[in-house]
Amino acid sequence: MKYKIKQGDKVDLNKWDPNEISEWSGDKKKAKEKLLELNKKLEQLQELLYAQHKHKILIILQAMDTGGKDGVVRAVFEGVNPSGVRVASFKVPTQDEIDHDYLWRIHKYTPGSGEIVIFNRSHYEDVLVVRVHQLVSKDVWEKRYEHINAFEKMLTDEGTLILKFFLHISNEEQKERLLERQTIPEKQWKFSNGDLNERKLWSEYQAAYEDALQKTSTDCSPWYVIPSNRNWYRNLMIATILVKALESLKMEYPKPIDGIEKIVIQ
Ligand code: AMP
Ligand code: MG
Repeated sequence: MKYKIKQGDKVDLNKWDPNEISEWSGDKKKAKEKLLELNKKLEQLQELLYAQHKHKILIILQAMDTGGKDGVVRAVFEGVNPSGVRVASFKVPTQDEIDHDYLWRIHKYTPGSGEIVIFNRSHYEDVLVVRVHQLVSKDVWEKRYEHINAFEKMLTDEGTLILKFFLHISNEEQKERLLERQTIPEKQWKFSNGDLNERKLWSEYQAAYEDALQKTSTDCSPWYVIPSNRNWYRNLMIATILVKALESLKMEYPKPIDGIEKIVIQ
């Protein structure tokens, strides 16, 4: 998959076009039909995952503001049994969370056997917003890439499949989306002045993302940079990658109890 960052690759986000749609040859309408097909497959794979109770699936979503994390949760998992998927959204840490190490609040939301968990933001905020706003000093945050790699390696060794998606939008696209939030009544609730302040720090965030992506994309826990200016393409790519990853686990339903066929139900 061309959007996967291989371990050790240098990442220059200017070279990743957020508009490109080269992995799909049909039109937008066809893409939506394909997504419905993938939704169905995901539903079946989730049931199998739960039945087998062996693997744990962790999906990490990161993006600039308005990048579409909520849209992915809505569109990619449409039709999947809500009991089988959990979303953990990480906001500004509470005082109790700040008083602990930055992985403390994260670890308890990781998936158990048979579960799919989606992180809407994650421990990566601790090398992104925390770095950009200098919430801790450089000598503190620069050690975190190594901790994160070790943490994710441990989760993998213990049976977790980790997939990390950076939803890549352009600066102009973010402006369009913020304008929509300003002017469309149903979207105005999402508008926050805070987002405008963050927007001024666009290049600092891009640099922090480049560092995070290249230092923490590993063989066991890779990053995918998903062109995300077009929502339908973003959803289609993520659904495709997920279905492929789950299929590669070659899951099977557990064996029924001995003699199940001879049991007489009165
Ligand atoms: P939203 O996802 O739009 O609801 O916003 C959540 C906010 O929480 C964003 O502004 C994040 O930057 C912020 N946030 C998440 N994690 C952290 C963290 N570890 N430290 C500081 N701010 C954070
Ligand atoms: Mg926001």
